[in-house]
Amino acid sequence: MQTMQGRAHAQTLNRQPVTQVAGRTQRRVGRSRLQVYARDFPPPQFDGTASYQDAVALSTKLQNAPRPAKPQRVVIAGAGLAGLSAAKYLSDAGHIPIVLEARDVLGGKVAAWKDEDGDWYETGLHIFFGAYPNIQRLFKELNISDRLQWKSHSMIFAMQDKPGQFSRFEFPDIPAPWNGVVAILRNNEMLSWTEKIKFAIGLLPAIIFGQKYVEEQDELTVTQWMEKQGVPSRVNDEVFIAMAKALNFIDPDELSMTVVLTALNRFLQERHGSKMAFLDGAPPERLCEPMVNYFTSRGGELRMNARLKQIVLNEDNSVKHFELLNGEIVEGDAYMSAMPVDIMKKLMPQPWKNVPFFQKLNGLEGVPVINIHIWFDRKLSTVDHLLFSRSELLSVYADMSTTCKEYSDDKASMLELVFAPAADWIGRSDQISARFNLKVFQT
Ligand SMILES: Cc1cc2nc3c(=O)[nH]c(=O)nc-3n(C[C@H](O)[C@H](O)[C@H](O)COP(=O)(O)OP(=O)(O)OC[C@H]3O[C@@H](n4cnc5c(N)ncnc54)[C@H](O)[C@@H]3O)c2cc1C
Repeated sequence: MQTMQGRAHAQTLNRQPVTQVAGRTQRRVGRSRLQVYARDFPPPQFDGTASYQDAVALSTKLQNAPRPAKPQRVVIAGAGLAGLSAAKYLSDAGHIPIVLEARDVLGGKVAAWKDEDGDWYETGLHIFFGAYPNIQRLFKELNISDRLQWKSHSMIFAMQDKPGQFSRFEFPDIPAPWNGVVAILRNNEMLSWTEKIKFAIGLLPAIIFGQKYVEEQDELTVTQWMEKQGVPSRVNDEVFIAMAKALNFIDPDELSMTVVLTALNRFLQERHGSKMAFLDGAPPERLCEPMVNYFTSRGGELRMNARLKQIVLNEDNSVKHFELLNGEIVEGDAYMSAMPVDIMKKLMPQPWKNVPFFQKLNGLEGVPVINIHIWFDRKLSTVDHLLFSRSELLSVYADMSTTCKEYSDDKASMLELVFAPAADWIGRSDQISARFNLKVFQT
């Protein structure tokens, strides 16, 4: 699944209705920028974990590979995290990446913009889980691991019937899966004992038969799987609506159960898997730039405002060159698409459309999602963590003035909210979205 961003909404939201409602202009008086408000927890010790060691082995293999007699010029379309990390690892292996980015900003779905007041707008609210060994390794290799702000080992859900209150799953510092089991057993606000036991029984096949079983569940939505396994519907309503929206920005009656089971499996197998970190500032500067510096200092190249218009083929259907929107031709020894799947489908050369490999892309489609920022001129009583919303229209949210160093403010709040599912909303006016969303948030 791929996502589409809704930055246009976020931008206008700030300027009109939200400014009036939240009094954002006044907030700037006496504001202390860059004061460190967020509290960091110690970074997890990944070194001993098998998945992290696999990531180390993979990147070490590239770094230690024999230097190519003729380094390959690899042309990569897209400077999101996929394109930039591909460029980083290609340069580790002794090749020359040339990254073409359509826009004037790095990062794709982690892109961010600064407005005239110096405030950042982000494309998405981004969490870095302990269960991402490759990205943890990437941070380490770029020497920027200290830019991840780790939060308490908890999952925190807004209480549906008690506005302003939260129910926490607290993971004790013991090995997996016991930390997860204890976290679930200790939380009695969201699920009853009967519901927990029935859910645990439903999960048994996944635990016994592992990944093969997990992949076979792709035919079922989360809701269908719950029904099939005899899990009470309240478990779906209490936990998995929020979980499905956090994972893929859609409701559990649309999401494949394979997605949820894959995440649960990682969390149940890895002691630090469900730990979460926030980046300490805007991703283009704090994460993308170090990647760009890494590969450009080793001979690679980055071209901004270089939008791929056409993939031109040779007679044998291999790539001849990339043609850009401005008419420029870019040639290389190899070519890579790190563009969103919907764009790749549009740019797919006709002869490739019948190739089974490329036909698999037909099973993927973008999911619209809107990221909203709301500034308040006072400090809300929020939590230093990601919060799972229970409202119909929100997925997750966080007070970035508390969770993130660069946005820290001890007198005001900056909420970032992921509005999903957004398919019915993405074309509506910003004003309607803002008013509706504020109402949702208040209740
Ligand atoms: C609101 C939101 C919240 C999210 N939260 C999380 C989270 O908490 N944790 C998590 O792990 N993931 C999260 N994600 C998902 C994550 O951000 C993405 O999976 C990831 O950033 C995708 O990276 P990518 O490089 O594959 O694609 P993209 O980021 O989409 O990058 C593609 C790049 O290609 C460029 N491009 C497009 N067309 C062309 C063209 N014709 N020529 C040249 N370049 C082109 C684009 O401008 C873009 O820079 C979130 C996403 C969103 C939208």
